[in-house]
Amino acid sequence: MSNLSVAKFGGTSVANHAAMTACAKIVIADPNTRVVVLSASAGVTNLLVALANGCDAAERAKLIAEVRQIQENILNELQDASQVREKIEAILKTIEALAEAASLATSTALTDELICQGEMMSTLIFVQVLKELNKNATWVDVRTVVATNSNFGKAAPNDEQTQKNSDNVLKPLIDRGELVITQGFIGRDPQGKTTTLGRGGSDYSAALLAEVLHAKDVLIWTDVAGIYTTDPRIVPAAKRIDTMSFAEAAEMATFGAKVLHPATLLPAVRSNIPVYVGSSKAPQDGGTWVTRDPQPRPTFRAIALRRDQTLVTLSSLSMLHAQGFLANVFGILAKHKISVDTITTSEVSVALTLDKTGSASSGANMLSAELLAELSEVSSVKVDTGLSLVALVGNDLHITAGVAKQIFDTLEPYNVRMISYGASTNNICMLVQSAQADDIVRVLHKKLFE
Ligand code: ADP
Ligand code: ASP
Ligand code: MG
Repeated sequence: MSNLSVAKFGGTSVANHAAMTACAKIVIADPNTRVVVLSASAGVTNLLVALANGCDAAERAKLIAEVRQIQENILNELQDASQVREKIEAILKTIEALAEAASLATSTALTDELICQGEMMSTLIFVQVLKELNKNATWVDVRTVVATNSNFGKAAPNDEQTQKNSDNVLKPLIDRGELVITQGFIGRDPQGKTTTLGRGGSDYSAALLAEVLHAKDVLIWTDVAGIYTTDPRIVPAAKRIDTMSFAEAAEMATFGAKVLHPATLLPAVRSNIPVYVGSSKAPQDGGTWVTRDPQPRPTFRAIALRRDQTLVTLSSLSMLHAQGFLANVFGILAKHKISVDTITTSEVSVALTLDKTGSASSGANMLSAELLAELSEVSSVKVDTGLSLVALVGNDLHITAGVAKQIFDTLEPYNVRMISYGASTNNICMLVQSAQADDIVRVLHKKLFE
């Protein structure tokens, strides 16, 4: 292990010149931070996704003008924008051409080529922001490092190839004492095409780079001063958690705590790299350390909320005393690359929710007509939407007496559609009406944490 840290700054942290300057100061203040991973400036990726979905010329012009305005606002605050402005203009031209192509025919590969441009722009501008604070930095195209498969929109990294690339590209720079600025979220497939790791994937990129660089830690700088007992936007009384385990953080991320991309903890756990989460606006406020085995391990740790869930109920009389029905259903789901999230079964039916974590960058609909048609061949299919998943994360929840009573007494006035309890020692999941979800998080939080 080295004394190197990989720092990642999210969209709001690089949203404008003042925010970028705050990030630059954090980087400069910490000599161990030698690799910096950035997201696109807030709002840019959403605009690029809209362009990638294809739209008419007028809409395209409007969306591109919005992208340009976000970058222009930062450029206008630089002392010397001339060189970087040229590069941004060239990227905006590329965006225009790709968006026009997308309006004729969209594809997942084209989408990734288009939406990677946000990170390209933010990183180029950030190098200049650092320079104007007298700090030289080297811009690296992360596609020369992060190798992935060709699953556009939600590509999986090739760890071995990424390690080799890092040794060839990043290590010499770091050994020379350079500060590296690079992009989160994106990679390159074996054919040389741009890929993305799924929305919010920059956290994952930072952890991947930390792993191949044998970094001592990953510093996730965002717009909250750590991981809280629940989303502080929903419950202002939520408390910061000072230390928590990889397992707890992974559960939270998987079940919707947007503060970390769900895959971030994979490299961290694999290589035992501590992850820090803090606020780039208020670094002095401290943050959360996520490590392998911190003490204590409270029964109730946090509440996560994942909105916009789909419940699929499959019923078939032939399921009664039959073998192979579930295998059949899971086979169909696997063929459509859908992973199941929570599941309950009865004699003649199975209800399941679909895993949308780290969803594809294109935001594609998971329940395609083909999938529904195939499922309909083996059973009757009912699809419910307007649901949210509330996950209570903690430790030894399955063996602690009175857990269920505390939770379900609190939830008495609400309609809980499905409960998943027992499979994991770390969580209890409840599927509820979206309209009631925030209220449920509030009452549960009040009961268990306040
Ligand atoms: P970034 O752009 O830096 O990646 P994100 O918006 O992806 O930031 O993640 C930060 C947001 O995560 C916070 O603003 C907060 O609303 C949300 N969030 C959800 N759950 C939690 C939690 N338990 N603790 C802290 N933040 C949370
Ligand atoms: N810019 C990408 C997104 O908005 C990746 C990230 O922010 O982590 O999803
Ligand atoms: Mg994020």
